[in-house]
Amino acid sequence: MTATRVLVLNSGSSSVKYQLLDMRNGSRLAVGLVERIGEQSSRLVHGERVRTEPIADHEAALKAVSEELAQDGLGLDSHELAAVGHRVVHGGIRFTEPTVIDDDVLAEIERLVPVAPLHNPANIMGIRVARAMRPDLPQVAVFDTAFHTTMPEHAARYAIDVETADAHRVRRYGFHGTSHAYVSRRAAALLGRDPREVNVIVLHLGNGASASAVAGGRCVDTSMGLTPLEGLVMGTRSGDLDPAVIFHLTRVAGMSVDEIDTLLNKRSGLLGLCGDNDMREIIRRTEAGDAAARLAFEIYVHRLRKYIGAYTAVLGRVDAVVFTAGVGENAAPVREAAVAGLTEALGLSVDPELNAVRSSSPRLISPDGARVAVAVVPTDEELEIATQTYALVGKK
Ligand code: ADP
Repeated sequence: MTATRVLVLNSGSSSVKYQLLDMRNGSRLAVGLVERIGEQSSRLVHGERVRTEPIADHEAALKAVSEELAQDGLGLDSHELAAVGHRVVHGGIRFTEPTVIDDDVLAEIERLVPVAPLHNPANIMGIRVARAMRPDLPQVAVFDTAFHTTMPEHAARYAIDVETADAHRVRRYGFHGTSHAYVSRRAAALLGRDPREVNVIVLHLGNGASASAVAGGRCVDTSMGLTPLEGLVMGTRSGDLDPAVIFHLTRVAGMSVDEIDTLLNKRSGLLGLCGDNDMREIIRRTEAGDAAARLAFEIYVHRLRKYIGAYTAVLGRVDAVVFTAGVGENAAPVREAAVAGLTEALGLSVDPELNAVRSSSPRLISPDGARVAVAVVPTDEELEIATQTYALVGKK
């Protein structure tokens, strides 16, 4: 019997998300999450089942996951398991493609910890535990940065002293690449065209948010940079700001670098502006006449419009603007405001009725005959990780 299953692992510092997929048809055999690892209140949610018990570390978490899978007859010892696909946030400039993990690859992912201190250590823990459990199985790293490694130097470099930048690997890497890759391809399919023929702007608007300019299937610019802090206004991150804000807060407010790091990553964005980071709540409050929520919404949309304009200029010709992730897939008012008044200048508009439709399928929301298509394409990072993993392992 050939092995057709792929286990996708997304290990965070205190959580592990997992899905087991059957690659014959992409179906989900299991979906689950271990959260609050290391705390007394940790729990495992496996489909409909919930296990509440202290889970000390990632090793205990994966052991609990494998017990749950075994209970469904899907144990990790199964011969049907072809590979484990790991989401790895930072692959630097070396990892341009999904990569089978060996000691050398793991060492390189570790060398990237200084540029991804919040993410890579947790990804590494997941890889180590999974390798120890099934040393015979191919383990594949799928990098959030990989899709963006095609960015030209003029988009990837910051305009700072080259020696300093190179010595400390300071450049724009971009993130959410798995989603941008998947969504840009699906958008081309929705238009009935080859991805190599179309130029799209992808707006991945989740709790974290990023935009990318994709020309003929290759990323040419993206809004996140050295870290996921740059670019759009996000749930709790500021996105773009004058870097001198940091010097100012150090000098004038006496804040430490760590305090400013926390401010910009965890207490800014929508949350910092109005006390809520959930777009549903912000829309509800705006409709109820709340001025702070309205301003937060307007700042969020203003930034989004600037990136749509910028990436139109970067691409020269745009075939589609595509919304994805929690906000992009669900928040019709955000989509409407993002392109409002841009029909004449950029050929962008949404049909109010199509925009109001709720659906989990890829769909066009621009009027018939629009110069530029506007689309909603639900992202599926797990399917993309599994697909890339399986393609790599299948070649062996
Ligand atoms: P992430 O994977 O980055 O955690 P998601 O892509 O799941 O985030 O997006 C989560 C966000 O999507 C929530 O914080 C919320 O703001 C937004 N969201 C989800 N559903 C809706 C909705 N129906 N309307 C507006 N916003 C929504």
